[in-house]
Amino acid sequence: MLIDDLRAGLADLDIRALRRRRRSLETQCSPRAVIDGRPMLAFCSNDYLGLASEPLLAEALAEGARLWGSGSGASALVSGHYAVVDELEQALAGFCGTERALAFGTGYLANLGILPAFSGRGDEIFADRLNHASLVDAALLARATLTRYPHCDLDRLEHALAHSTARRKLIVSDAVFSMDGDIAPLPALLELAERHDAWLVVDDAHGFGVLGPGGRGSVAHFGLSSWRLIYMGTLGKAAGAAGAFVAGNADVIEWLMQKARSYVFTTAPPPALSHALLCSLRLIEDGTSRRNHLQALIATLTGHLDLQRWHLLSSRTPIQPIVIGDNQRTLDVAARLQQESIWVPAIRPPTVPVGSARLRISLTAAHTHEDVLRLTDTLNRLAP
Ligand SMILES: *Cc1c(COP(=O)(O)O)cnc(C)c1O
Repeated sequence: MLIDDLRAGLADLDIRALRRRRRSLETQCSPRAVIDGRPMLAFCSNDYLGLASEPLLAEALAEGARLWGSGSGASALVSGHYAVVDELEQALAGFCGTERALAFGTGYLANLGILPAFSGRGDEIFADRLNHASLVDAALLARATLTRYPHCDLDRLEHALAHSTARRKLIVSDAVFSMDGDIAPLPALLELAERHDAWLVVDDAHGFGVLGPGGRGSVAHFGLSSWRLIYMGTLGKAAGAAGAFVAGNADVIEWLMQKARSYVFTTAPPPALSHALLCSLRLIEDGTSRRNHLQALIATLTGHLDLQRWHLLSSRTPIQPIVIGDNQRTLDVAARLQQESIWVPAIRPPTVPVGSARLRISLTAAHTHEDVLRLTDTLNRLAP
């Protein structure tokens, strides 16, 4: 029976230490979490600037709901588009220094919209092997040939581009790799895109709000600008709310609005959210002290960790992974940390390659130096 297959599959997840379970937070998103009535010091969220529990932003969301109601009522191209969304898109485009921006429901939806809008059968997508799952799904949906190059291996990418006979080529990369924390060589990727007449799609889910002047993101960090550059930023991580946007050349964005099925065939997000995101954008732009504090926390973490057999990946971003390798071993360490009321997620395949299970520490501006020292002291004590 069909249900027996499922049960066998679930049992198999248990055997391989791959079954995932959710924890129900009883507090707002914050380093000081409460789960089952128990306080935990959390290093889990992507709320890099600590805005998810910022009262000004929560107030803006409430004000947005009073002004614009609770729902959009329709997809954007039918009747679900609002003046406040125009205002947000113009603010995002201005912030990123591009001609135009288009707001999406989530980053997952934005990626699912972008790749099939710019490629199809007979075209070729060149993707970093460590790209986010949503980009892999998007490439499958596009039905283009998918060529995955080894992580940040520009020679292999160049070789693949040079040998491609595809009409349209798309280079696709995370800007900050979500499970490794390293930054993609965007200037070199753009140069390759120019040399081989390809688009460059940059997924800046973890860079927007954190990197670059005023938190303008990875592309601004490198000072790049080109009509070839299709920039995707998300608004549920550092921006502390929800949503995503794509910024770029006006014709590119117009094409995306016409063709992205995940834009056209979904109910538009509540306009109240755009009102809140305008506030979020101001907080990001004025967030220099939050970003400076975050950088100081990263220095405290890397300066105090003293691990022998475990491997702290080299990262300058708030994503600081410790690779342990074995799934069960990684879960055991996460469980030991939990006994000490410290919450660091164990990340296992398929989110990361087999054999590279890890603790994914993420720091936010809402942490204190004492929080980070408590983590490093505990890890130093537990490490073999
Ligand atoms: C989180 C994430 C996404 C998805 O964005 P959501 O807004 O959460 O749907 C896409 N790409 C990367 C690299 C991410 O980390």
